[in-house]
Amino acid sequence: MTESNGSQPRVAIVTGSARGIGFEIARVLGSEGYAVVLSDINEEGLTTAVRKLEEAKIACVGVKADASQTEDAEKLVAAAIEKFGRVDVLVNNAGITRDGLIMRMDENAWDLVLKVNLKGTFLMSKAVVRPMLKQKSGSIVNIASVIGLMGNAGQANYAASKAGIIGFTKSFAKEFGRKGIRANAIAPGFIQSEMTAVLPEKVKEQMLTQIPMEAFGTPTDVANAVSFLASDKASYITGQVLTVDGGMVMA
Ligand code: NAD
Repeated sequence: MTESNGSQPRVAIVTGSARGIGFEIARVLGSEGYAVVLSDINEEGLTTAVRKLEEAKIACVGVKADASQTEDAEKLVAAAIEKFGRVDVLVNNAGITRDGLIMRMDENAWDLVLKVNLKGTFLMSKAVVRPMLKQKSGSIVNIASVIGLMGNAGQANYAASKAGIIGFTKSFAKEFGRKGIRANAIAPGFIQSEMTAVLPEKVKEQMLTQIPMEAFGTPTDVANAVSFLASDKASYITGQVLTVDGGMVMA
């Protein structure tokens, strides 16, 4: 399912793929035959990530880019086209947290989280639309969060950015559905990664009590969901939010 036309592989861009969930998404898509464009602001991490995928014989390239900067977003898409000739899949995964209670949250923490998580998703999606329109096909998968669905004390900025991503995804799906470009979001629950490793044990224990499956997820759980939504197996699915959370949030 990874051949776009004849022998040309399908091409995927994954933002924030130097480590964590983004790296795993790149690895899983690569192992399925996609040519992968990895991207991150962390140059050193990016170099290591590219090396690991090359060792696994995955066709890939690393492009240092800040997803929240217009020029970088456009440069990243141009680099993908130059290297692999097309872009079939964009995974907007780059995301950050700057947690704090609302009364203590300064404007910078608000602005930065909204800029990277939400504006970055908009800029990258906008940059990729032109080549996808030309191809008359494409699939965008945005990494939101269950926090964007249910809110969380101490994460108002993050929750707003992730809820914003869901609204953006639905709007994008409505604008581009008839053009053959799909957009969906994934809302992971608690996933074991460097982002969550820093949380206190007490918080983790408390979270476990809210998860029917009584376990945290892995980056591979998220990557497998991305793989499905990106693929032609999901060809009639657009504008949806898929929770990958062990049953924590049920609509
Ligand atoms: P992580 O911090 O381990 O990795 C995020 C990566 O994004 C890093 O490599 C970082 O350098 C990169 N990045 C940050 N700002 C960037 C920018 N402006 N441009 C490009 N790259 C940038 O985090 P993770 O846990 O792997 O999370 C990945 C995504 O999944 C995020 O969007 C996060 O909000 C979401 N998510 C994570 C969890 C979880 O439990 N870990 C749960 C729900 C959603």
